[in-house]
Amino acid sequence: MTKSDVKESLPMEYCRGYSADVDVIRREEYPLLDGTTYLDHAGTTPYAKSTVEGFSRDLLSNLFGNPHSMSLSSQLSTQRTDDVRVRVLQFFNADPNEFDLVFVANATAGIKLVAESMRDSDHRGFWYGYHNDAHTSIVGVRELAGMGYSCFQNDEEMEIGISELSSNQSKAPRLIAYPAQSNMNGRRLPRRWCEQVRHMANKSGGNVFTLLDAASLVSTAPLDLGPSSSAPDFTVLSFYKIFGFPDLGALIVRKSAARVLEGRKYFGGGTVDMVVAAGAQWHAKKETSIHERLEDGTLPFHSIVALDSALDTHQRLYGSMSNISAHTAFLAKEVYDRLSSLAHFNETKVCKVYQSNSSSYGNVQTQGPIIAFNLCNSRGEWIPKTEVEKLATVQNLQIRTGSVCNPGGTSLSLGWTGPELRNHYSTGLRCGDSHDVLGGRPTGILRVSVGAMTNMRDIDSLFSFIEEFYVEKIPPIVCLDPIGANAEVVAPHFYVESLAVFPIKSCGAFKIPKGKRWEVKSEGLAWDREWCLIHQGTSAALNQKRFVSHAMSQAELHTNCNRYPRMCLIRPSIDIEKGVLRITCGAIAAPDQVSLEISLDWEDTSLVSTSFCPSSTKRPTTVCGDPVALHAYTSPVVSAFFSDFLGVPCTLARFPTQTAIRYSRQPRTTSATSTWKSRFRSLLMPGSFPSDFSYPSREDNQVKIALSNDSPILVVSRSSVNRLNETIKANSKLGSSKTVAADVFRGNIVVAERLVHRGDVEQPYAEDKWSSLRIGPNQLRFDALDACQRCQMVCIDQFTGARRDEPFSTLAKTRNINGKVSFGRYATISSDERDGHDTEKPGHCTVMVGDVVVPFS
Ligand SMILES: *Cc1c(COP(=O)(O)O)cnc(C)c1O
Repeated sequence: MTKSDVKESLPMEYCRGYSADVDVIRREEYPLLDGTTYLDHAGTTPYAKSTVEGFSRDLLSNLFGNPHSMSLSSQLSTQRTDDVRVRVLQFFNADPNEFDLVFVANATAGIKLVAESMRDSDHRGFWYGYHNDAHTSIVGVRELAGMGYSCFQNDEEMEIGISELSSNQSKAPRLIAYPAQSNMNGRRLPRRWCEQVRHMANKSGGNVFTLLDAASLVSTAPLDLGPSSSAPDFTVLSFYKIFGFPDLGALIVRKSAARVLEGRKYFGGGTVDMVVAAGAQWHAKKETSIHERLEDGTLPFHSIVALDSALDTHQRLYGSMSNISAHTAFLAKEVYDRLSSLAHFNETKVCKVYQSNSSSYGNVQTQGPIIAFNLCNSRGEWIPKTEVEKLATVQNLQIRTGSVCNPGGTSLSLGWTGPELRNHYSTGLRCGDSHDVLGGRPTGILRVSVGAMTNMRDIDSLFSFIEEFYVEKIPPIVCLDPIGANAEVVAPHFYVESLAVFPIKSCGAFKIPKGKRWEVKSEGLAWDREWCLIHQGTSAALNQKRFVSHAMSQAELHTNCNRYPRMCLIRPSIDIEKGVLRITCGAIAAPDQVSLEISLDWEDTSLVSTSFCPSSTKRPTTVCGDPVALHAYTSPVVSAFFSDFLGVPCTLARFPTQTAIRYSRQPRTTSATSTWKSRFRSLLMPGSFPSDFSYPSREDNQVKIALSNDSPILVVSRSSVNRLNETIKANSKLGSSKTVAADVFRGNIVVAERLVHRGDVEQPYAEDKWSSLRIGPNQLRFDALDACQRCQMVCIDQFTGARRDEPFSTLAKTRNINGKVSFGRYATISSDERDGHDTEKPGHCTVMVGDVVVPFS
């Protein structure tokens, strides 16, 4: 089918009522979506260019003063705020006589305001009931409910709960909350419950209130609040989910229910008519309107003004929310149908879609455009969600994964009970971590959500991604044993091709010069990951894959997929003779290179020199911090050196290690210190994911988290890199060779084979079977540990910082071992070696480029 055929086959719901074809809208209004597949509209939808431009024009042509003053500029702010308030109410068909709108920071702040007011309104507190499909922000209200709470597990329990409202004669206030749409599976819950609650409550003297969380619904559907008698008492939402901008929320209050909010104790900013500050504790709350009494402090008046531009643009582009609803419902049904029909060669299903029983895709009354699912291989085993995440990132596909802030919905879909989850928590499971499959069951979901400007191309990209990486068209190829396959192969001659250490974690490599023997310690090669860069705000160690440099241009951001690859351009070198760590920043041989020298001596805390600031040599640097934790260099020279280069506020920090101790007279660090260090290292090993977490097998219900005490050395095989490159070449389109250097794998020891006889062949991936290896003239013994699990960081060119989709895409297809993309082996010096020889024979525990390597399988 050609493109135009596809167009013609699209149904009338597809961009019906839009100002132009959705592809035209995309081109003109959403240039940031070019080259990416954005399918996380339930997180936020992007803003249109016209919204930002209109807002900018508004700000540039009007002077807005603080609304609390009396000046002209102040009056302008007040007037615009009043107008926008009514305009937004009308957008939701809420009669301004019956409803008031309170501006809040976001939906969550609206929920919290209702909950705190309810708590303050009665000395007994309030009782709370909520539906299991709720967002965490709704669940959290239960902690404020002095009279207890109930979670309705499903619609049936909800209806029973509602019918029992009339029999309860308690006069304490009660609050019933539920989402208008689940942010997990997109199910749209019945609106009739609000009216039913009111009806039942009136039989028992009232004092029961309804809270509708419309945050997810409003992004792709009309919210119609009229008539007031059937409307929720309180409705909350966030505007960024509808328009992409501004970041602002609303609490819409049904005026006849407002009395319960008056009990709120706190007052502040403009919410009072008079306050006696000293002496008698007296204040008079504003009596004019509900919003005036609830909006503490100065309103975010610029953001409120932005709503005008957002509403104008939205209406001009899309016509109405109903148009968006029809468009997105069509796309979601398409995704659902295609996901449900995908099958492997043996007819097992590729996707498990978690759909609610009470909804169906294509029906806008019961189902919104959100699809929750997981992927399976041809043996029916779950694909770990973090593996999908990593590959999606490399392929520029943006989806949400995990429990998506919807604990009830996800645990119900995945079949987890509360006690099971608590048990997993106590063994280390955390929201957002990488424990993807426990006891053969997934802990989270993949979520695809579409929005007003999603087009068919986005859906096609999603499916090419799944087809390419997760649909098995033929049975998996069983790897032939390279030795068994060809008995003629002579014993290979392995040798150390290169040695590298990474003195600053996640930064450039220091290649150990040829002819120099390098010390091996129990924690790894000497000076390997001795330092790291930490964020000055969070103290988190920086790495190449997580942070975005503000210094990068928009174009760079695009090619680098919002990653933080400039760290590989920070090149440290160890000068043992001079006793310094020398750090150079910038592309190799660039004219603007700058460098910094820091003493290797643990006790000498002075900065040796900085090339860009010659007058400040010998500036003292204080080393501080928790003695067991990192020691950060507080010198402004050091932090400026790295911060300026990366465009992120950061500084250098050092691990307290045995390496350091050798250079100082400090007492030996406690074993806790080195354990802590190796733990830290093993969790943050560059280019890898923790190797020491074993995923339990299907039978195994226990979570095993073994943190090894020894920080490993990463061994990479040249033959495997060669084989990988052949595969990349074979699969890439003509003229777009994407072969990679061995450096992207950031190995400490690169082992190569010397092919001496004619007909000798390399043995790629032989390292998978190694149990130990002996290196060098002293036959220094190393134990092979786990395979190194890879992430998208291997896509960063270590010399330019540019990011590509290889080798991760090919690795994911060819080196997926038990759901984990692996390349290279961790190894550690055997314990006999370091116990026996460490001190007696200097030079025993060393390796050098050219050393012979003898592997054992
Ligand atoms: C997004 C969302 C929220 C939270 O919105 P915030 O803007 O983070 O306060 C609450 N409930 C649902 C259903 C949502 O989708």
